[in-house]
Amino acid sequence: MRIAIGGILHETSTFSNVQTTLADFMRTSAEGQEIFQNFANTKSAMGGYIDAARDFQFEVVPTFHASTAPAGLVTGEALIGLTSQLVQGIKAARQSGPLDGILLDLHGAMISEIDYDAESYLLRAVRKAVGPELPIIVELDLHGNITPEMVSLATVCVAYDEYPHIDSYERGYESGLLMAKIVRGGAKPTAAIVNIPLLAGIQREFTFAEPMLTVKHMAHDIENERGILNVSYLPGFCFSDIPQTNFAVIVTSDNNQAQAQAAANRLASYIWDHREDFVVRPMPIDAAIEHAMQAPQGPIVLADIGDNPGAGTPADGTVMLEALLRHGATRAVVAPINDPEAVQLAIKAGEGNTVTLDLGGKTDRLHGEPLRVTAKVVRLTNGDFVHTGPMGTGVLSKMGPAAVLEIAGQNGGSVTVLASTYRHQPLDLAMLQSQGIEPTEQQIVVVKSSVHYRAAFTPIAREIIEVDTPGISNPDFERLSFQNLKRPIYPLDPDMVWSVS
Ligand SMILES: [Zn+2]
Repeated sequence: MRIAIGGILHETSTFSNVQTTLADFMRTSAEGQEIFQNFANTKSAMGGYIDAARDFQFEVVPTFHASTAPAGLVTGEALIGLTSQLVQGIKAARQSGPLDGILLDLHGAMISEIDYDAESYLLRAVRKAVGPELPIIVELDLHGNITPEMVSLATVCVAYDEYPHIDSYERGYESGLLMAKIVRGGAKPTAAIVNIPLLAGIQREFTFAEPMLTVKHMAHDIENERGILNVSYLPGFCFSDIPQTNFAVIVTSDNNQAQAQAAANRLASYIWDHREDFVVRPMPIDAAIEHAMQAPQGPIVLADIGDNPGAGTPADGTVMLEALLRHGATRAVVAPINDPEAVQLAIKAGEGNTVTLDLGGKTDRLHGEPLRVTAKVVRLTNGDFVHTGPMGTGVLSKMGPAAVLEIAGQNGGSVTVLASTYRHQPLDLAMLQSQGIEPTEQQIVVVKSSVHYRAAFTPIAREIIEVDTPGISNPDFERLSFQNLKRPIYPLDPDMVWSVS
């Protein structure tokens, strides 16, 4: 049994004005044996494929893998170029021996200027190369916006169960096991998808609290039924202004369409009945900061939900920094502010010196103005760190050249800012610790993140507050101007009527 492995991942925000190019993907892409070097022994989807191959005794043939940070529309050149690299890799794998299947690490919310459903575009190209019969198991982020076409092109869709995404490895491993069941055991996957017209607020997609906790438990109960191969629930990516954005449930059975459909309907009905619970209600900025400063003990983690680079924002928003300085907060850190220019000025000034610069707010006008600050350059690094927390354990991350800046605020306050060269969501304590910032010693830690920070920061946080900061990742859907969504959709059309057919 010989299985090709590869992947192309992007989460696209149509509200970002930063295009995603081929060069962005190629910066960390891997081809052939490089895939083993990058992913073997990591808690990633590819790491899961590699370990499943060892345990279930099949051979994996590495092809091509590329991903890049969420941002705006993927250029046509990028989608065509990436697709061609992946297809070439799969063709090469076929030429070197018989191929029994393909394990693909995709996202599900990639949007290109040439095709809004970029995963279907990719899968059509792969199908054209290998034909309709070869098993293709696709791993998906639960933020995928999934179409029936995509489900029909894949043999099985396996989405992450968890947000924070701590189980991409486990789902990769599960995909490997399913592949063995299909190729060796003769399982015949048949899938049903229900697309629920629900725009879920991203903070309420957190899978360790309601409403998603029950969704997860129901899915696992269904998955334990005889004949069910996989249950996936994808609340989707709400910052995609395209007709395909919604909440999808996909159930795959072993050759029993009626069973798959009935299970998918059951889960979809529960989700629709609880639609109000998917609306996010964050705390106003000043109230959140006052509360955090008065808390008897830190760290209080404040989530800057409007500027989460993991959802395609610039990560250079200054609103929280401005408010912390104005309130005179101390032992407060903002992680990160992405500003390559500021980092270069800090490098020029040198460690231990002060520098006056305009910090952040440079990409657009939606996340706060550039802030004129005089900062002490506390530390300069190359920005590399290895994940030590539950997400992507062991994976090397590159923030690019980074500077730790200390900025004096009102009434003797002082705020530490981690300035980076590449956009990076704070989802691991090592991001701060590697820069000499100990998060447990802070009163306030501001994270530019929607939910992922919870995996690493919940154990150290005295309290977590979602703050109503402006920006393109704040799921205040009235404030974002949607043009292309399929209507009606809840909650934009609050009185709509819908039921599972
Ligand atoms: Zn995701």
